[in-house]
Amino acid sequence: MAIIEPERRTPVVAEADVVVLGGGPAGLFAAIAAARKGASTLLLERYGFLGGMGTAAGVTSFCGLYANVHGRFERTARGLTDEFLDRLSRMDALNEPHSIMGQTLGQSYDNAAWKCAADDMAIAAGVQLRFHTLAVGATIDGGRITHVLIETKSGRAAIGGRVFIDCSGDADLAFWAGAPTEKGDEHGFIAYPTMMFRMGAVDDARALASKPMLRGKLEDAQRQGRTDLPRLSASFNPQPHAGEWRSNATQISHEGHPVDGIAWLELSQGEIEGRRQIRAYFDFYRSEIPGFEKAYLLDIAPQIGIRETRRLVGRHVIHEDEILGAADVADPIGVNGWPVERHVRGDVEWKFIPGRGYHQMPYGALLTRKVANLLVAGRCASATPVAQSSIRVSGTCFVMGQAGGTAAALSLRAECDAIALDPRVLAAELAHDGVYFGDDCGG
Ligand SMILES: Cc1cc2nc3c(=O)[nH]c(=O)nc-3n(C[C@H](O)[C@H](O)[C@H](O)COP(=O)(O)OP(=O)(O)OC[C@H]3O[C@@H](n4cnc5c(N)ncnc54)[C@H](O)[C@@H]3O)c2cc1C
Repeated sequence: MAIIEPERRTPVVAEADVVVLGGGPAGLFAAIAAARKGASTLLLERYGFLGGMGTAAGVTSFCGLYANVHGRFERTARGLTDEFLDRLSRMDALNEPHSIMGQTLGQSYDNAAWKCAADDMAIAAGVQLRFHTLAVGATIDGGRITHVLIETKSGRAAIGGRVFIDCSGDADLAFWAGAPTEKGDEHGFIAYPTMMFRMGAVDDARALASKPMLRGKLEDAQRQGRTDLPRLSASFNPQPHAGEWRSNATQISHEGHPVDGIAWLELSQGEIEGRRQIRAYFDFYRSEIPGFEKAYLLDIAPQIGIRETRRLVGRHVIHEDEILGAADVADPIGVNGWPVERHVRGDVEWKFIPGRGYHQMPYGALLTRKVANLLVAGRCASATPVAQSSIRVSGTCFVMGQAGGTAAALSLRAECDAIALDPRVLAAELAHDGVYFGDDCGG
């Protein structure tokens, strides 16, 4: 059954040179980069804060900042990332980097500080932030987006722009504009979502000593029937402040398959299932893991953490072979040093990048031939599902965001579409702004 809605006039409430949809890691950096290059820039975000999965899903740890370069850890997400990390550092909101299986590094951050540092950096750059703005559609004319349609507490409205950057994580705008997108692999499989949680009053020293025994304890408890938890590859890690730990443990499915992050009813059910699983993991930690006896549930992330939904099928589709082959490309915008990290049923499968430990990210992964004034950056950029499991992390989304925003501003300056921008001009501008392109061509 369906109803016919009455036709209506939709007010155009704002216009800008560059309109960025989504204020996650990619969107934040895209907007800052565009604004700093002189483009009037609007950032539309459905929540009341920035950070995307990084805050709304309680991720609270950066991956993809470092690469394992021939056995030496080197920070390869640079440029605007340097400034953002400096801001967090000054807020006492960053841990020292921690080892991930001895192969690479992660770095924990404080959730509230991410939001504040992002506000400050965006406002200082001149970005016009529009929170509580849910984008719901787009109007197209002659293969170009003219407006994004939004729903707000003040009603429905339209936002006009010259260049649009889709950093929604779900390729919402690309999809509405008719650019080719895909979801899942050939079997329809998408990475499992996880609902994150944090605990307070943890005994730091004893919890640290317990880390290596977590999997064994989970396996024992499962075998002996004391628990029925969906994922044995659970982890917990300390946050910047004493006694506070986060856990990445749950694995949320719906009728036997991973919850689909763009399916309304599955998302709703997933939130409830996520909180149910969190209570089960939390009870297990308290009763079986030394250091957690007096812990309390400090925070359940505001939303289920979505790793993967729609991806652009763009001019360049990043492939697993490029990542694991540490490939160079003709149109680099920076590098990605994060391994392939697949969240499969009950586990996580890792494949690390050998040799120099990073591959170059292609500008073509942000571009579509279908919509002339659209760029796509972040976890919904153009990559195969396996490659997406690597490039989706925050550090690499920062790289893509900075490149997307810079390209948007440069294309406006050059009075051409982003797809016509000379990638050498873009790369030179990004290098000037501190982006790392790799200094080891040894593959
Ligand atoms: C459980 C989990 C654990 C993870 N662990 C790590 C980790 O340890 N380290 C790491 O670096 N990465 C981790 N990741 C990956 C990483 O957090 C995300 O892939 C990354 O945040 C993607 O950035 P993005 O900007 O592309 O998209 P997102 O972070 O998804 O941001 C998209 C933004 O767009 C907004 N938006 C979406 N649609 C609309 C709309 N229609 N209208 C208005 N606003 C909209 C959203 O509210 C959001 O703010 C994890 C992810 C998950 C889910």
